[in-house]
Order: sequence, then structure tokens, then C-alpha cells
Amino acid sequence: MNINILMLTTIISEQEQNLLQQAIENSCNVVIVAHVAPDGDAVGSSLALSGVLKKLGKQVEVVMPDTLPKSIMFLQGATDINIYKNNTERCKNIITNADTIFCLDFNEPKRVDLMQEDLVNAKAYKVMIDHHINPSDFCNLIISYPQISSTSLLVYKILNQLGLEEKVQKSEAEAIYTGMMTDTGNFSYNSNDSDIYIAISQLLQRGIDKDEIYKIVCNTSTISKLKLNSYAISEKMEILDGGVAIITLTRNELNRYSYQKGDTEGLVNQPLGIEGVNVSIFFREESDYVKVSLRSVGDYAVNIIASELYNGGGHKNASGGEFFGTINEAVTLIKSQINKYI
Ligand code: 5GP
Ligand code: MN
Repeated sequence: MNINILMLTTIISEQEQNLLQQAIENSCNVVIVAHVAPDGDAVGSSLALSGVLKKLGKQVEVVMPDTLPKSIMFLQGATDINIYKNNTERCKNIITNADTIFCLDFNEPKRVDLMQEDLVNAKAYKVMIDHHINPSDFCNLIISYPQISSTSLLVYKILNQLGLEEKVQKSEAEAIYTGMMTDTGNFSYNSNDSDIYIAISQLLQRGIDKDEIYKIVCNTSTISKLKLNSYAISEKMEILDGGVAIITLTRNELNRYSYQKGDTEGLVNQPLGIEGVNVSIFFREESDYVKVSLRSVGDYAVNIIASELYNGGGHKNASGGEFFGTINEAVTLIKSQINKYI
């Protein structure tokens, strides 16, 4: 057996490497954008890349469609991120005047929600760095590696390949680690790639405190959040034949527990801990649509359900979408179609 002890494997092709190097060299006003409802990976990869590009002397702005979860605001640079929803005119200007736009952690313009039109119309050279399957063709350079567990790890591997690892210091390392951790459920799924642990070892050498990051990002409960999640499991979970768990929360129920954005993060994963449950679907009623989150284990591909029934997509074991109708209709739909998928 040939054991590779401490070297990350290379990821991007020589052609991608050359094009990316050129894009960075030619850039001056860089904008980094990520998907709506940004998660640890979207924010982590964006802040890490932003930190490195700033050290190369670039003017860099990060723009996200809407607000970040509180639990990742500790990352350096998080408070400087421009939020399109809150500051639309400024964000429009930033996007219009960019010469280079990096699109991180998403594969189609729809994923930036309200920013979609500005992004598509921007004249900048666009580079996608992402790990979702089936990237759509809206960027000049598409660097898409769905086999990599997080965009943050992909960015880290790319920075290494470009010889920029010296620019990855503690704050960038914290951002990368956060994205790697959140996109693998604290290294509990999609996490058998040995490069993950080589990367972690290197990030630790830059002074990150991974135990502290876990505490900050994951131990963020409040009384009302814990009660809401307990209520959802005890009163609103249904297990269908075939090992499919369904949880629904209406607007009324969310309000009853003073729901704050992020309060149901992770809820959809919980039923998968039950023996025999292979698919879990969570429906949350928003003001004008129903947000659907899907998770599975093994070979059950929930991204197909997300795209065929709920205008969404994502990864085989973790995906999401939106349903435009009532929450009851959203549930009826899956109940009537589930046999097709299971
Ligand atoms: P979550 O359930 O945490 O919102 O989303 C899980 C994963 O599903 C995300 O990382 C993303 O890849 C994908 N996803 C969530 N919502 C959507 C959506 O509306 N459209 C698409 N294409 N993917 C989504
Ligand atoms: Mn991701």
C-alpha cells in the first residue's frame, strides 16, 4: 500500500490552473458572491478567498443575497460582507463595477435569488468554484468538483496548487475549517476523503482552535430554539412506509416559538438517527413559499426529489428546494410520489 502522509493531492487541471492564474493576475476589482441563505461553507470559502486576494493587493468585496447566520459572524471579515437585500444600490454598483466575479458554492444563477439579474448581466470575467453537480453555463471559467465535500476545501486545495498557501493565515484557516466542518456535519458525512484530514492538520498548524470553532458554530441553542425543535420531533414528525421521515412546521408554530432564522438548522438530520429511516424531509412554511430540506443516507438520492418536485437541487444526501403552494400540498405531493423514489 502506498500511503501518502502529508501532501494534499492536486485537484484542478493544468488548463484550469493557467486560466485561474490569469484571471487573478488580470483582476483589480474583485467581487465574491455566494448563494442565498449563506451557510458556513458559502461564507467560509468566500472569506478565505477574499483574505488571500486582499493580501495580493486586490480590491475585494464580498456580496451575499441575504443575511448570514449569527453563528458564523465570528469569522474575520464577516461583518464587512455586503448584504444585497439590505443594501441593494451599493451591491448593484459593486457587482456592475467588478472586473472579476468569483461565484462560490453555487452552480446556477437562481441560487443568488434577488441578485440573479445583476450577476448574469455583469460584464466581469466570472469564475465559478463549486462542488454541486450539473453546473450551469453562466461563468467564463467553471471549476466544479462535486466529489469534494465543501467549496472551502476546494478553495484551500486550489490556493495550494497556485502556490498561495503562504497567504492562508489564521483567519483564512478559520474560515476554511468552518466551511469544511459545516458541509460535512462535523465530519460525519461526505467525509472519507483523506485530504480533509491533511488539510485540517495544516490548518491547525496555522493556529486555529477547532474545538472552539465547533463550540461557537454548533452550540448556539436558545430555550425557544430547543423547545421548537423538540416540539417538531415530538408532535410533527411522521414516519412513512419505506423509512421516510417527514416534519412540517407552519408559520403559526414557528411564531409560537419566536422562530429566528437558523433555529431549525440541523433539525432535518435528526430522523436519520432512527434505525430504518433513510430519507428525511422537512417543510417550513415561509411567508410566500414552503422551504423544503431533504437529507438521506447511502444511495437514496434526494437531489432528484428536490429538483423534480420542489424546484431545487443540491447533493445526493443533502438538498433543498422551494414549493409554491400550501404546506399541506407540499406534503401531499411527496406522499403521492414517494414510491417513485424509494
Ligand atoms: P438546506 O436544506 O441546508 O437549506 O440545503 C442543503 C443543500 O441543498 C444546500 O447545501 C444546497 O446545496 C442545496 N439546496 C438547498 N436549497 C436549494 C434550492 O432551493 N435549490 C438548489 N438548487 N439547491 C438547494
Ligand atoms: Mn457547500
